[in-house]
Amino acid sequence: MEKFDAIIIGAGPAGMMAAIRAGERNRNILLVERNNTPGKKLLISGKGRCNLTNSCDIEDFLGKFSRSRHFLRNAFAKFFNTDLMSFFENNRLELKKEHGGRVFPESDKSGDILNVLKAKLKNKNIKVLSGERAREIIVKDKKIEGILTYSNKRFLAPRIAIATGGLSYPGTGSTGDGYRIARNLGHKIMPLRPALSPILIKERFIRDWQGISLKNARLTLFAGGKRIDERFGEMLFTHFGLSGPVVLDISADLYDALKLKSDVTISINFKPALDYKKLDARLLREFKTNSGKSIKNIFKNLLPRGIIRRFLEYCGVSGNKGASQIPAEERKRLIKGLFDLRLTVKGVMPVKDGIVTRGGVNTKEINPKTMESRLVKGLFFAGEIIDIDAKTGGYNMQAAFSTGWVCGDNL
Ligand SMILES: Cc1cc2nc3c(=O)[nH]c(=O)nc-3n(C[C@H](O)[C@H](O)[C@H](O)COP(=O)(O)OP(=O)(O)OC[C@H]3O[C@@H](n4cnc5c(N)ncnc54)[C@H](O)[C@@H]3O)c2cc1C
Repeated sequence: MEKFDAIIIGAGPAGMMAAIRAGERNRNILLVERNNTPGKKLLISGKGRCNLTNSCDIEDFLGKFSRSRHFLRNAFAKFFNTDLMSFFENNRLELKKEHGGRVFPESDKSGDILNVLKAKLKNKNIKVLSGERAREIIVKDKKIEGILTYSNKRFLAPRIAIATGGLSYPGTGSTGDGYRIARNLGHKIMPLRPALSPILIKERFIRDWQGISLKNARLTLFAGGKRIDERFGEMLFTHFGLSGPVVLDISADLYDALKLKSDVTISINFKPALDYKKLDARLLREFKTNSGKSIKNIFKNLLPRGIIRRFLEYCGVSGNKGASQIPAEERKRLIKGLFDLRLTVKGVMPVKDGIVTRGGVNTKEINPKTMESRLVKGLFFAGEIIDIDAKTGGYNMQAAFSTGWVCGDNL
């Protein structure tokens, strides 16, 4: 039976970084991965481009996390975005910054990020055991002894890190094994639910809008008649509802709102840069300069083409009418539709379809300075398995790398 200084379960960004950091400290590490190769989720991240971090400052960064910001402050103090960028750049991988501070590899290939990590694992003599799924952690007399795999193999080590990810995209290997293992060792798992997940809408007419995206929309969320959130940014219509960064960002709060109230609606403002007076003036101007055209043609200057027919139906205005035939009352309805197209939220796509999982190992039970369990000596956590989740923009990946680094610094 092989003995190691520490075993890390799960070779995602968190587990790989933990192994690399521990390897830098000359620890003899076994990294166990159930897939045939590490980093399956990392490869599909950022639509295959991997938005590995965000260049904003620490306060802005922490502000993107839902509840666990204080927990992460220590990890970010030790290994933050500039450290992560230097890590890759020092390994000859060029990075670039895009809008909103999102950082990507210059090549736009997530595979290049993974290649650096794999090369580092090799360079630090980390034993990577692929195709082996950890089943449980063996504890004897309250002491960690090692792990047992589903193929009944045992590997021994006094320290074990669980970096098995969340429940999202289970096809990548994150099926929640780590939650079960942690729960068996006495840890509390905070309720698991989708975060950054597409939204299901009741109104069927928006199916006709699938594939159309809006670059600058304002979304306002209402529950029980009260406004509960408002966001501005890019969104996408899908065959079942809404997606895109701004929609994903509100989805977790929306999921929680739906648990409490049944009447949750979402308002789309197509023209957030204008106020009522300016939009009215704009419509009047369009109607005047295009007086010979039908309203459906005039609206090509105001909305994406694919939206117009259903939008006019929603407003109760016939698209074949000429501009001069639109009474003030109908113009008012058009303005209302442009500012406040109201959709009924039916639900949020399940956690398996979310980009990340909200919930996980309770942060109160983990020492934020070391990532060691406060309940079981020698047990560590890193990455999405911990109850941490953030908005889109590279924050989740950085959290995985940072908690991984701190974990590896203490294994
Ligand atoms: C489609 C998609 C796109 C994303 N894009 C971005 C992005 O651009 N930027 C960003 O910041 N975040 C993004 N994320 C989120 C980000 O990928 C995750 O937060 C991050 O991968 C979490 O890292 P992790 O190491 O904790 O877990 P994971 O990456 O999920 O890795 C966990 C690993 O553990 C392995 N494992 C699980 N159970 C066992 C077991 N019993 N034994 C052995 N191995 C096991 C799994 O196979 C897996 O390889 C995206 C997520 C998805 C789904």
